[in-house]
Amino acid sequence: MDKNFQEEFTQIIKFKPPLYKQRHQFVKDLVEKYKPKKVADLGCADCSLLRMLKFCSCIEVLAGLDICASVMKEKMHTLSPLPVDYLQPSERSLTVTLHHGSVAQKDPCMLGFDLVTCIELIEHLEEPELKKFPEVVFGFMAPSIVVISTPNSEFNPLLPGVMLYRHPDHKFEWNQAQFQSWALETARCYDYSVEFTGVGQPPTGMEKAGFCTQIGVFVRKYPQTGESVQSEKPTEAVYKTVFKAVYPSLKDEKYLQNAVISEVIFTAQIIKHRLMSKHEEYGDDPERKSKFQPSMDCFSDYLGKLVVEKNMEPFVSGNEIYIPLATIFSFPKVNRLCGTFEKLRKLIAGKVTLSSDGSAVMFNIEHENEEN
Ligand code: SAH
Repeated sequence: MDKNFQEEFTQIIKFKPPLYKQRHQFVKDLVEKYKPKKVADLGCADCSLLRMLKFCSCIEVLAGLDICASVMKEKMHTLSPLPVDYLQPSERSLTVTLHHGSVAQKDPCMLGFDLVTCIELIEHLEEPELKKFPEVVFGFMAPSIVVISTPNSEFNPLLPGVMLYRHPDHKFEWNQAQFQSWALETARCYDYSVEFTGVGQPPTGMEKAGFCTQIGVFVRKYPQTGESVQSEKPTEAVYKTVFKAVYPSLKDEKYLQNAVISEVIFTAQIIKHRLMSKHEEYGDDPERKSKFQPSMDCFSDYLGKLVVEKNMEPFVSGNEIYIPLATIFSFPKVNRLCGTFEKLRKLIAGKVTLSSDGSAVMFNIEHENEEN
């Protein structure tokens, strides 16, 4: 490489977005493509990749592993659910767990993952650890996809200030041929296919140097069923769990019940409000009194349709307003949350005031007026 040309580049190479963000974006794109449910990040360090991945709605299980507990613990609290997660529980379930241990050791908690990411990890491994790594990740964990990224040493001359390695903890840095031959051999041994790519484009005229970060994406060639994995591979637990967060989810009956009760009351209140305003409007007309009258806005139009088509009319009797459960059930959000009418009845039983036959939500107008 021409020394002057090279020196010129070392002054200006600055990745935008920064390289670590490009690596994380690469993983996110892969998650969006393959939609894995269970993802493990090996060598997760300060959990920044996990923090990004928890927003991918397909993921239900996220795990991090690192040999350095202190670096993981620094920001692990940022993986905890936020108040908004409790106020509006998500439809998916999500569990985030952090383990302290080495990728050179097998632990049953690492079984059953769909995607395993090893971002800038392998170059931190001592030789004996690197030797055990393929058997642990590809032989034991055996996920459908493994992503491995590592520095490409051919790019180093273009980076300012890099003498031997990019980081003092690196035990080696491979050129493209070295990484590819290790990856191809690993893939062959454990029945995976591998494709190479990278992030951090080389400058024009320096394409031969390759990407600054080289990446191998490994895809398992043989099928594997989740249930059989655990029993086939008995191993003792060696990792220490240092963090676990179970996010509130509508899959959990107690959060579903709260969400359904709030939605039922909210829907019933709106219907009641419309009914009361119509009631006031037509108050003197005995023909129209107590009847719901459709108006121009879409909520009322929708209600009007239900009333006409399905005879699910809310009505007033004495000081009570009755809003049929069937009417409330036909509203999309209530319907989606409960699935069946029976489930709606079960979830609100004893929690919402109903008519004596249980067919309608009941409000006392007098009582409400007093409160107002
Ligand atoms: N993946 C992160 C950080 C990479 S730095 C990122 O993309 O930003 C490498 C990390 O691997 C460090 O946190 C280091 O503690 C961890 N590590 C090194 N050897 C390990 C081993 N044998 N098992 C698990 N983690 C290890």
